[in-house]
Amino acid sequence: MTTSREVRLKTRPEGMPQPGNFEVASVDLPDPGAGEVQVKNLYMSVDPYMRGRMYDRPSYVPPFQIGEALQGGAVGEVVASNGANLKVGDIVQSMLGWRERFNAPAAAVQKIDTHGLPPQAFLGIAGMPGLTAYVGLLKIAALKEGDVVFVSAAAGAVGSVVCQIAKIKGCTVIGSAGGDEKTAFLREIGCDHVIDYKKVPNLTKALMEAAPKGIDVYFENVGGEHLEAALEAAKPFARFAMCGMISQYNATEPPKGPSNIMYVVGKRIRMEGFIVSDHFDMLPQFLQDMSGWLGSGKLKWRETVDEGIDAAPGAFLKLFTGENLGKMLVKLA
Ligand code: NDP
Repeated sequence: MTTSREVRLKTRPEGMPQPGNFEVASVDLPDPGAGEVQVKNLYMSVDPYMRGRMYDRPSYVPPFQIGEALQGGAVGEVVASNGANLKVGDIVQSMLGWRERFNAPAAAVQKIDTHGLPPQAFLGIAGMPGLTAYVGLLKIAALKEGDVVFVSAAAGAVGSVVCQIAKIKGCTVIGSAGGDEKTAFLREIGCDHVIDYKKVPNLTKALMEAAPKGIDVYFENVGGEHLEAALEAAKPFARFAMCGMISQYNATEPPKGPSNIMYVVGKRIRMEGFIVSDHFDMLPQFLQDMSGWLGSGKLKWRETVDEGIDAAPGAFLKLFTGENLGKMLVKLA
């Protein structure tokens, strides 16, 4: 018997989540049963989509329940095993983050062959956010060499991979992010134009200046003003990969629609939403390309790492205040 601590949803947030919406609780953990493993989490991921699960309403993933531990991506080390295919010391990935340790059937975790990468890279560039960038850009937006690509939340986990894949594929990239550190990072990863949306007086004007002939592709992470700017700057037949709209996740009133949505008709824009889990068939191709790009040093990534399970709610909140550069993680062990 050992103990573990876990983060539970105490109350459902209204608007911006607050630390008081969460509580950290201790649980007793027996030895793993037949066919089970015990895993000590090394890193857990916090992701914007988790905010959607804090509402009590139907979505593509079920809501979190009050009083229950939250869930999310994590990488950990097997510390005890009664599962035939896993041994102590194996590094595994699971959806059982937000806790220090857990017991689970061996089939509920996936062993990772890290190929020399740090394990937490499988929560970021080599994991779900990287795959999201790959699917959204190459499949949903059907990226072509020479495209002019506009990316919002460009310095984040998904956005920074989008920018770099688009550069590898011979495109012109315009990245938007907030603050000097983020815009410097965007220059470092090769963005041709960088917009600090928190500084420019008019985002649409800044985008039109960066892309005087217009944009072919918009990778949407933010919504609101960014979507309006992209609609304004879109060329005829532009493709919009609608990945997320983080500016609206904490809205307490229905957000206003983009005032210029009519451009979708006149410009014949193709706008397609997607959820990465519908595209897991692209995982082998993604891992092959990603290992080539990482191996040849073509991709850079950043992490913002907070420490300890008590820091997890605060790390989650940083996604909405923009305090993360690259992938936001919590180191648990
Ligand atoms: P990020 O690492 O990009 O972190 C979130 C960033 O969003 C912040 O750092 C901040 O950057 C920006 N942001 C937060 N609030 C606002 C706001 N009000 N206006 C403008 N920017 C804001 O997160 P991820 O890379 O994990 O996720 C990026 C997007 O992709 C999200 O919308 C997410 O929901 C979506 N997503 C969708 C998936 C899918 O399957 N469709 C899968 C994974 C992610 P800054 O400081 O620059 O403002």
